[in-house]
Amino acid sequence: MPGFELFGDKERQELNDVLDNGVLMRYGFDGMRNGHWKARALEKELENKLQVTHAQLVSSGTAAVSVALAAAGIGAGDEVIVPTFTFVASFEAIMMLGAVPILVDIDDTLTLDIEATKNAITSKTKAIMPVHMCGSMANMDALVEICNAHNLILIEDSSQATGATYKGKPLGSIGDLGCLSLDFVKIITAGEGGAVLTNNEKLYRNADYFSDHGHDHIGNDRGTEAHPFLGYNFRISELHAAVGLAQLRRLDEFVTIQKKNYTVIREALSNIPEVTFRTVPEGGKESYSFLSFFLPDLDAARKVSTTFKEQGVDACFHYYDNNWHYIRKWEHLKDLKTLYPLPSEAKKGLSYLKTKTFEQSDHYIGRNISCLIKLSWTEEDVKKRALKMTDIISKYLK
Ligand SMILES: *Cc1c(COP(=O)(O)O)cnc(C)c1O
Repeated sequence: MPGFELFGDKERQELNDVLDNGVLMRYGFDGMRNGHWKARALEKELENKLQVTHAQLVSSGTAAVSVALAAAGIGAGDEVIVPTFTFVASFEAIMMLGAVPILVDIDDTLTLDIEATKNAITSKTKAIMPVHMCGSMANMDALVEICNAHNLILIEDSSQATGATYKGKPLGSIGDLGCLSLDFVKIITAGEGGAVLTNNEKLYRNADYFSDHGHDHIGNDRGTEAHPFLGYNFRISELHAAVGLAQLRRLDEFVTIQKKNYTVIREALSNIPEVTFRTVPEGGKESYSFLSFFLPDLDAARKVSTTFKEQGVDACFHYYDNNWHYIRKWEHLKDLKTLYPLPSEAKKGLSYLKTKTFEQSDHYIGRNISCLIKLSWTEEDVKKRALKMTDIISKYLK
């Protein structure tokens, strides 16, 4: 990760197809586009690669989550369970619909804790949204079972785990809906972009229409399409889709490189008895976009993370002190700082955030360091890096 490291001729070639005829819009203009339908082609290839019957491209991963939630009919006052360790997009998308994010503790998988998830279910719960952070996954069998038992919708956010699988199935294909991001720092990139994945025809139609103003896309004349319901504009452009197409075709190549680099560093760190690794649920295969490990305590993780930075070991994150991915520093959320008034049901539902603490999440995130695995490293770079990391950690622990 990320795909932008290997941007090159294949991406340029796909882009040139679009630039040659100038049709940057994914719908219509049939006569002008010389047969180039990049968004359509990318949707088809995503369906094949990620083993779903439908993929709907949208303008970002955040849009994908928003569209998935809307497609599932989630709205004012509905509760959606999400992990405390995620990206801000999770609660942003939920709150835009007037719904209530219920943040739930994570465990040593760095994703939703199953017991905590069960305990968070109320009569208002409509969906569970596991977020497969840093290239690995939640325990999907357990979540599917909970959702079936309580009649809840399961929405996977696999933005950070494209290319990972669970019991042979690509992440994003297991829940009722899957979301992925193709932004500039994800494993494959379109510059900006995202996709909603599903095997459910009705949810797909909802996502398709909703992401383009509610147009039903039946017939060729944009002016006469019907509007079964209100929508919005979350469309992707042909330019972005073209880049995404070239990148998707390189996904296996990227995962292979990442696995190789990940394995060298993991083996080196395994020699330090105090270092443990995140748990990958049984049957899970990571995308190897990050190597996530635990140190004995918060102080160790803080100190090691700082020393990594000082000594040039870049792209390692101690999420406990970061304000993009972990609840501890989301003051804007806790204080409900929105530009617009929230529905009263949402406000009421969110009031728990003022006082609730998440000791279990702190326990894991406080001790965790996650290091990005790059595609551009040489064998020599990886070896040097592994040595430097073990050296810094060993010195601290002595
Ligand atoms: C990146 C990301 C998103 C949002 O994707 P954008 O394309 O940047 O809007 C959502 N969820 C997770 C877990 C992400 O990492």
